[in-house]
Amino acid sequence: MQTLQSYVLGRWTPSSSAPVLLHNPTTEEAIAEVRSGGFDARAVVEHARKLGAPALAKLSFAQRGELCKALASALHAKREELIEVSVLNGGTTRGDAKFDIDGAIGTLMAYADLAAKLPERPFLVDGAGLQLGRTARFWGQHVWLTRPGVALHINAFNFPAWGMLEKLACALVAGVPVIEKPGTPTALLAWRVAQILVESGKLPEGSYQFIAGSVGELMDQLGPQDCVAFTGSSATGAKLRAHPAVVRHNLRLNVEADSLNAAVLGAAVEAGSETYNLFLANVVLDMTQKTGQKCTATRRVLVPRERLAEVRADLVAELGRIVVGDPADKATRMGPLSSKSQFDDVRAGIERLAKGGEIVCGGAQPARAKGWFLAPTLIAAREASEPLFHAEEVFGPCASLLPYSGEPEEAAQLVALGGGGLVTSAYSNDNGWCERYLALAGPWHGRVWFASDKSSEQSLAPGMVLPSMVHGGPGRAGGGEELGGERGLHFYMQRVAVQGFKGLVEASFGQPAASASASA
Ligand code: NAP
Repeated sequence: MQTLQSYVLGRWTPSSSAPVLLHNPTTEEAIAEVRSGGFDARAVVEHARKLGAPALAKLSFAQRGELCKALASALHAKREELIEVSVLNGGTTRGDAKFDIDGAIGTLMAYADLAAKLPERPFLVDGAGLQLGRTARFWGQHVWLTRPGVALHINAFNFPAWGMLEKLACALVAGVPVIEKPGTPTALLAWRVAQILVESGKLPEGSYQFIAGSVGELMDQLGPQDCVAFTGSSATGAKLRAHPAVVRHNLRLNVEADSLNAAVLGAAVEAGSETYNLFLANVVLDMTQKTGQKCTATRRVLVPRERLAEVRADLVAELGRIVVGDPADKATRMGPLSSKSQFDDVRAGIERLAKGGEIVCGGAQPARAKGWFLAPTLIAAREASEPLFHAEEVFGPCASLLPYSGEPEEAAQLVALGGGGLVTSAYSNDNGWCERYLALAGPWHGRVWFASDKSSEQSLAPGMVLPSMVHGGPGRAGGGEELGGERGLHFYMQRVAVQGFKGLVEASFGQPAASASASA
């Protein structure tokens, strides 16, 4: 059986601690094991500080972008193998595997392109300069400087490739070395990705280390210039927030957590219209892609009361067409949950939600005799405001159907009961309706996605996270923010207000055009 090792201090390191088994969720067979530990946490952090940080500091933004490009092409060369590992350990269909792996490669490439356009100077300029004194002689300018620290990245099990690479791309371009810790149940893919990155020979020594299993004492070694970017459940996020290193040093912590993402069908969207068809297609996609194990998956579907019966029938028909089965089979549209504990959690969650309504398709029963399969499950709520539907994220192919009046204010009020989310999607051809929805629902989300007849042909699905737009959300979604083009680098940098003689501040730190004229 394959044993996953950590890559620390420049080598793959065995451990003799008790193994945790990884499984093939289709057959329930054990396929690999992870043994935590086997390293000195202080030495790992020092390795990143002493070798990784200075090596990255010697590279310009553009050179770090070249590094991302080289890593992307190393991964692309092994794409077929990575897809197979994802199917084996994650239970993903080939399509779902590509979503993760191509998303990872695409994000690396997007940051390579962005880095190529960044200035040659080793910092970023933030906004215009400001006159601070009585005359322009005393001047101010904000700049972003790379923090001389280490980034600990802790990722969730559901995107072993994309989750790791989207964080890595931002940290590397910003110039900060990374210690990566993937979610354990699907760590076989993360580990294989790590091997390919290391074998590429492109990563400067100390700029990337990989932890198989628990983070151990790593958090205790971090200090005021370090950061932790975490993706996972709210419960783990809350534990990290209370960690003594975070409290003592105000360690920078970004939390990407749960979200009860809502899709809202606006009033007056005609049956059969492009917008209505897109609404049905996206709800079904978001419930079933990656077997619903997607942070941006739709968990609540809001429908005008008078359309409820029609939408319910249409969704049941569409969900009934989803072929659940062996993810290696081309006809399969939805594979199993990734692990036994996921399967147990989702079944228990469906049973709890069912207390507030009626299961209209699917349910908590296994969909096949062997493997961790469930059918897509839709639960019609008795009361739209029933707290169950707004409090619990069932992290699987399950959503609730909630009636509302068709007024955007009521939709926004219901959506806000989720306590903050990553994305809400709304389907309407009425700009006024959209503006009213955005004003009230927007502050509860990191992203608001609108569909109309005019844009439906070109729109990307709401569950898709793009490197050029921010990802994250307030409240229960963790309060974090990632990606968003250059914004994604800022987490790894310090914004500094530079104040002094204009001849220095503008010439040395101003916007390129201003500094050129100041020094002329
Ligand atoms: P999880 O159980 O919270 O675990 C997340 C990560 O934290 C894993 O790597 C886990 O390691 C690690 N971890 C657990 N306890 C820890 C501790 N005390 N100290 C340090 N690390 C610790 O979440 P999950 O089950 O992997 O992922 C599912 C959740 O992630 C869902 O709630 C989903 O909504 C959320 N998610 C959010 C986003 C987003 O962008 N907002 C994206 C994807 C997923 P082990 O695996 O070794 O326990």
